[in-house]
Amino acid sequence: MIDRFRTEFEVADDRFKDYSGDEYVEVLYRGGRKSEGPAYLAAGRFLVWSDIPNDRMLRWDETTGEVGVFRQPSGYSNGNTIDRQGRLISCEQGNRRVTRTEPDGSITVLADSFDDKRLNSPNDVVVRSDGSIWFTDPRYGITGDYEGYAADSEIGADHVYRIDPESGALSIVADDFVRPNGLAFSADESELYIVETRLRTIRRFDVEGGATLSGGEEFVPGWFDGIRLDTQGRIWAASIDGLHCYDPDGTLLGNLLTPEGVSNLTFGGPRRNHLFITTNCGDVYSIRVGFTGVKTV
Ligand code: MG
Repeated sequence: MIDRFRTEFEVADDRFKDYSGDEYVEVLYRGGRKSEGPAYLAAGRFLVWSDIPNDRMLRWDETTGEVGVFRQPSGYSNGNTIDRQGRLISCEQGNRRVTRTEPDGSITVLADSFDDKRLNSPNDVVVRSDGSIWFTDPRYGITGDYEGYAADSEIGADHVYRIDPESGALSIVADDFVRPNGLAFSADESELYIVETRLRTIRRFDVEGGATLSGGEEFVPGWFDGIRLDTQGRIWAASIDGLHCYDPDGTLLGNLLTPEGVSNLTFGGPRRNHLFITTNCGDVYSIRVGFTGVKTV
């Protein structure tokens, strides 16, 4: 039996009236505690995500509709993404590291410290087309034992980092955040949007030479977690009251109303028009839509 609810957008701007897609949001899974980090593996035709407080990752098989455990324990994984070779990249809050899962299932540690100090608890991650990996490192996973292991911050600050694709070296690309969270590149990768959860805003940066950031002015205010862009340049932002959609000029276009607060999202499926949404109460939703997400793999 299909578990679903009616697709309802709060339209805030006339430009958003041409929505086309499923009339119902399908609930792929209920039963997690807090779902996060959805990532679609095209080769395997499955969605993987984190169920953070349960210290596990789950997977939904597109061919059967079945949900099973992908990995447990998961190091209290949070954000996930797929790199250009189709490999899973994960933020492990409990293990305080960013890892890559190889095709044979083994795990390679990509980053776990900076200047010999342990990272706080990597939260969300994106891969650029040059193979560089960009992630945020707020201390949410070490402030208590709910989503990781309580500990003090060794670095003493919550930065945004980049892993160099050639050397593997870690560098700080933004050091003026309080709690950086979700992040996403624009389609041409000339801009990087980063959520500042504590200050209730999304900031927009220019990417210089593929390796550093400049700018960083407020894009829009709001309480957000994960973000993704579509090929129209619109920014989709997970929020406590639904999934917001913004024009690149910062105008709120619409809001997908959801029964629970939204934590993150990703575009998947063979055509990247399958929108997968994770929620703060452990559910996973999906809708097929009439537009596509930015190519990220
Ligand atoms: Mg997050």
